[in-house]
Amino acid sequence: MNVDNSLSPHGGVLVERVQPLRSADDVAGLTAIEVREQIVHECVNLAYGFFSPLTGFMGSADVASVADSMRLVSGYVWPIPIVLDVADAELRRAGVSVGDTVLLTHQGNPLATLEVSEIFAADLTELAGKVYATTEPAHPGVQRTLGYANRFVAGDITLVCEPVISPPFDRYWRTPAQLRAELDRLGWQRAVAHQTRNVPHSGHEYLMKGAFMEAQADGVLVSAVIGEKKVGDYIDEAIVLTHENLRAQGFFRDEIHRTTALLWDMRYAGPREAVFHALVRKNLGCTHHMFGRDHAGVGDYYGRYAAHEIFGELPDLGINSVLTLEWWYCPACGGVAYEGICGHPDTKQDLAGRLIRSIIDGGAEPAPQTLRAETLALVRECADEYGFGSPFVTERYLRERTPVLTIPPPP
Ligand SMILES: [Zn+2]
Repeated sequence: MNVDNSLSPHGGVLVERVQPLRSADDVAGLTAIEVREQIVHECVNLAYGFFSPLTGFMGSADVASVADSMRLVSGYVWPIPIVLDVADAELRRAGVSVGDTVLLTHQGNPLATLEVSEIFAADLTELAGKVYATTEPAHPGVQRTLGYANRFVAGDITLVCEPVISPPFDRYWRTPAQLRAELDRLGWQRAVAHQTRNVPHSGHEYLMKGAFMEAQADGVLVSAVIGEKKVGDYIDEAIVLTHENLRAQGFFRDEIHRTTALLWDMRYAGPREAVFHALVRKNLGCTHHMFGRDHAGVGDYYGRYAAHEIFGELPDLGINSVLTLEWWYCPACGGVAYEGICGHPDTKQDLAGRLIRSIIDGGAEPAPQTLRAETLALVRECADEYGFGSPFVTERYLRERTPVLTIPPPP
């Protein structure tokens, strides 16, 4: 248990590297490299300190150390490489070399400056194998890794244009410094983080309540992962609005529940991703992080409770884990029941996935205490307002949704 020091950011100091341009002239002479949305997310996270103590994209020594031992060269725990990949041909065309300051742009607008400290190649299959414990391209994290361009460019970044977050996410967007100030105002000495990409069913609600009690917490911070989506996921708008609604409807008192957004493209790295989630929430000011079954896993690549086991190996993480088993709906118990307590394995109804989807799709009547009527009503509203009629991601949503963030042109 490291409660005493876990209010500190990872590495001790919250990184903030933001220096807005006064005008486009400030970066007029710099070589520009256009980056995709994935990299925009990483730049924003680096600059605001979500990834403290990282100050930029990793060099070869850190990438190797993270892959081999889940630690930065500095010794701090870090489980997933944060890299900027650029094709060698593009680097040569732009004439980028070590020592240069380059400008990263998105859709033509300045985003961040990068002080190039190293340009290197890595064996992507080997890297994927170490980080994901598999090299099967069916694994989305492996696929992302194998798809990297053939050079990594390392160096510190400074955000030069702050992103504009679109409604409704602007109401939930807080930088780590802003969120820490808010938790401080609320008097949260012990805050437990709930990572989510779901609309909350009753199992999730009890997960939060159980963790709140177990951690003797002052509050629950819902940290909704907003990032790359695939068809069939919940739409982002429904995730944040339904979580917030649990507080608005009084299922959590106002002072003990907050919802915030994290721009992160899931890697599905199982236990390593669990550690990553814990570190980011530590940077947000949380002292505890809850982990349930199959946390951040995909398919059968990781054990059901692999995320639980890894924390025992990392006593210096600086944030406490609250490990939870499964909540299900049990008609015999007459409500939401907890694995390890309920003795009716034959009648239990798994709350995850299909049951809830069938309720939302209208194919099944909501059993009492599976999905709150208030949540179901709001999910349907979100479908109409944001999802082109569906609360789940469709091809149309992927094409036509309002982007979560835009990078405005400089003044
Ligand atoms: Zn039961």
